[in-house]
Amino acid sequence: MMSAPIPNQIFPSFEKTREFIETYAATKNFKIVLRNTSKYEDTDKYIAGAFRCKKSGKYEGARTYNFTTNRTGCPFLVRFSHQKHTDNYKITSMTLTHNHDDINNGNYI
Ligand SMILES: [Zn+2]
Repeated sequence: MMSAPIPNQIFPSFEKTREFIETYAATKNFKIVLRNTSKYEDTDKYIAGAFRCKKSGKYEGARTYNFTTNRTGCPFLVRFSHQKHTDNYKITSMTLTHNHDDINNGNYI
């Protein structure tokens, strides 16, 4: 059974964090984009960032390749940050609501 992200949830790596959010998004029928990232200069690891709904805010960069997507300024947001002392990634804040009605809000499949 899939679970929704929760505040202060810990993941062993950035990749595991993204995998979890991507799986959650897939069960809810929306796509995520990575925004507002910062990286360590020496290791190229993410310090922090945010997963947004693809229908969030404004166009940013070439990774948003589907130009026909209608953005609605969706408020969905999951912020994460690297925990230097444990080398884990933590969800620091989140908004799991959407402002468009094509989301699957029923039971997880
Ligand atoms: Zn959304």
